[in-house]
Amino acid sequence: MSPAGFFASVNAAFDRAARYTTHAPDLLAHIQTCNAVFRVSFPIRRDDGSLEVVEGWRAQHSHHKSPTKGGIRFAPGVHEDEVMALAALMTYKCAIADVPFGGAKGGIRIDPGRYTVTELERITRRYAFELIRKNFIGPGLDVPAPDYGTSSREMAWIADTFAQLRPEELNALACVTAKPVGQGGIRGRTEATGRGLAFGVSEACRDLSFMARVGLSSGLAGKRIVVQGLGNVGYHAAKFLSQGGAVLVGLAEREGALHHPDGLELEAVMAHRTATGSLLGFPGATDLNTSAAALELPCDLLVPAALERQITESNAARIQARIIAEGANGPTTPEADEILFVRGIQVLPDIFINAGGVTVSYFEWLKNLSHVRFGRMEKRFEEDAFARLVRAIEASTGTTFPDQERGRLVHGANEEDIVNSGLQETMVTAWHEIRRTQDRLQGQVDLRTAAFISAIDKIARSYGDLGIFP
Ligand code: NAD
Repeated sequence: MSPAGFFASVNAAFDRAARYTTHAPDLLAHIQTCNAVFRVSFPIRRDDGSLEVVEGWRAQHSHHKSPTKGGIRFAPGVHEDEVMALAALMTYKCAIADVPFGGAKGGIRIDPGRYTVTELERITRRYAFELIRKNFIGPGLDVPAPDYGTSSREMAWIADTFAQLRPEELNALACVTAKPVGQGGIRGRTEATGRGLAFGVSEACRDLSFMARVGLSSGLAGKRIVVQGLGNVGYHAAKFLSQGGAVLVGLAEREGALHHPDGLELEAVMAHRTATGSLLGFPGATDLNTSAAALELPCDLLVPAALERQITESNAARIQARIIAEGANGPTTPEADEILFVRGIQVLPDIFINAGGVTVSYFEWLKNLSHVRFGRMEKRFEEDAFARLVRAIEASTGTTFPDQERGRLVHGANEEDIVNSGLQETMVTAWHEIRRTQDRLQGQVDLRTAAFISAIDKIARSYGDLGIFP
């Protein structure tokens, strides 16, 4: 399929789900539409003095809630259809995660590896300037975050550009999320998408009827996992899944992949890649020449966490995993979805399983608007209250808790505890909501369709609440 088909793929998934709802066709059409797209070209000066014209986009898919929210990616293949598709996925993802935002996405068509840090800073700040000029960014308008090829560094540049141009804006820091912690960020945001994926997968593995359906024993421990892409999402997903007892049997990056049926130690592989510049040649593991080959390795869970359209009609029949957790956005095409469904392979869809990033971005935005760190007001109060309780238990039972246990019991929640707990609650609640929808339809639909049904119902309800399309 041509690259122009990504937004159409998202809409195909929407249409499949919409058939199971009773909403008016005009409301469904309105929800599906991408509301606004801003395209910009601007020149930047390279370090050698030459000029280069750079092209970028920002799509705002839905304004049923404000602000809109979604990442900014830097990649050579970025195009308008892609940002529209990704913005649409953000709308449905926010609905599923109960994050009160509409969906958006931005992108700049560059290969960041070809530019120096100072050049990247000029590109990012100019792009932010263009967004500000057009009212396409702001704490109550549209709030970007990192995505493929960007990180907290670019977010810090954007926040700084915004603050300089809007000095009167008290909530300026809330114009972008996933900033460094020292510049208004929140603890736990960097790892949030991978951690959220691990929370979602663990909950799915605890679901006895779901695991019986895919033919696996319950529990994450011992499950064989393959991860494609070891960037922000893939690395953290691999880290938290292996901390939960899963075994990493395959890891893939651009240059190829590693396979080891007994398990790979993530940090050792990362250190090897840093030292040699490649995953390949890791002692004891088998090299695979392409990243795509890793998708077909024998395993229980496959985590595509690089880019879209990795599992297609040409390889879906050869996937051996029983569960696919979509760390990336749009890694499975609609044609592949059908093949996987018939083969009984369950896909934990992107709009659910990678929602951890936007969830914690929402927490960061709340922190920026309230101008106070989570836990600051209550941590000490809680610790004093817990200590009094522990002393009362010790006095009435005549026992003394060991120091380590006492420390655990009197610990008051700090920012990271609150963020991780809120993230887990979000992922667990969303999982059960999607599963209830699937059960209501007697398992006739896959999890993606069930997730879209939940999202469509929630968005339609919010239009009803606004008195529009009653
Ligand atoms: P990233 O830039 O941090 O990492 C991407 C990684 O994939 C890089 O290490 C890159 O080398 C690798 N890669 C590129 N092509 C590959 C290939 N063919 N095979 C294997 N590896 C390859 O990006 P990220 O933020 O981790 O985003 C990855 C995906 O997750 C994207 O689809 C993004 O939209 C999605 N996502 C990201 C977030 C987030 O919070 N960052 C949230 C939700 C979804």
